[in-house]
Amino acid sequence: MSSRAQRAGLIELAMSLSITHLGSGSRGNATLIECEGHRILIDQGFSGRQLEKRLGLMNIKPNEIEAILITHHHGDHGGGAGIAQRKWGIPIWCNDRTASALNLDLKTVRLFENLEALEFSDDLAILPVPVPHGGADNVAFIISHNGERAALVTDLGSWTDELVSHMYGCEHISIEANYDHSRLWNGPYPARLKERISGRGGHLSNQQTGEFLASVVNENTRSIVLTHLSEKNNQPHLAESTVLYHLDHIFEGDIRISLQDGPEFTHTIGNIANDNQNRTKITISR
Ligand SMILES: [Zn+2]
Ligand SMILES: [Zn+2]
Repeated sequence: MSSRAQRAGLIELAMSLSITHLGSGSRGNATLIECEGHRILIDQGFSGRQLEKRLGLMNIKPNEIEAILITHHHGDHGGGAGIAQRKWGIPIWCNDRTASALNLDLKTVRLFENLEALEFSDDLAILPVPVPHGGADNVAFIISHNGERAALVTDLGSWTDELVSHMYGCEHISIEANYDHSRLWNGPYPARLKERISGRGGHLSNQQTGEFLASVVNENTRSIVLTHLSEKNNQPHLAESTVLYHLDHIFEGDIRISLQDGPEFTHTIGNIANDNQNRTKITISR
């Protein structure tokens, strides 16, 4: 690599924010956020071995992770927090109810309050915003970096005006599209489970995700990742086409799907110092 390219690379690294899903679905979730030497995980729903393997595909060791922020206590999001804390000493950040439900050591866990921004540096802050999800004090995270924002939201049966106002116009949005309505209702799950999944405290259908996105996406939004697709009650092409139907004329950026076995791609937002300024850069990471 020429020194000029190296310099450009350094500038890019210094000024941009990268989002990589290490995998997403009911068997485990974790998302890596990188900028300016910060490496932060949102959720750790994998075993220690799986986390190590998935980070390894990006040439990152677990002890290079500065913090793990947990959305809520369900096993596919917080089930691997304890092992990451014990094995590699990674600090875990979550709210009080999530910490108690996960039986985390309250002496070492860093508790946050919903709607109070966590400042990781002068220009990197992460805001936890409450979202409705049965029996859990679940939060979305809005990551602000140099005036641009990425939103990560998953596991919600409905949405609030507060969430809409925080997500409106984010440059990047990762959001669950859990099930296709007719596949769920015609599928194998017992009636009670179908009702729980589709209820206000359950998960978003592809159609609901499309409707929600239509109220938060604007011309600033450059990339969307659909996450947490049900392997039984959804299909990537159904999720993508249903969501795009609702975003017709609103969104012309990049849309991708994060499946259970990642990492597969990285989105970067920020003031990338080259001709691609203000455009999303995609890197295939393996
Ligand atoms: Zn989940
Ligand atoms: Zn959940």
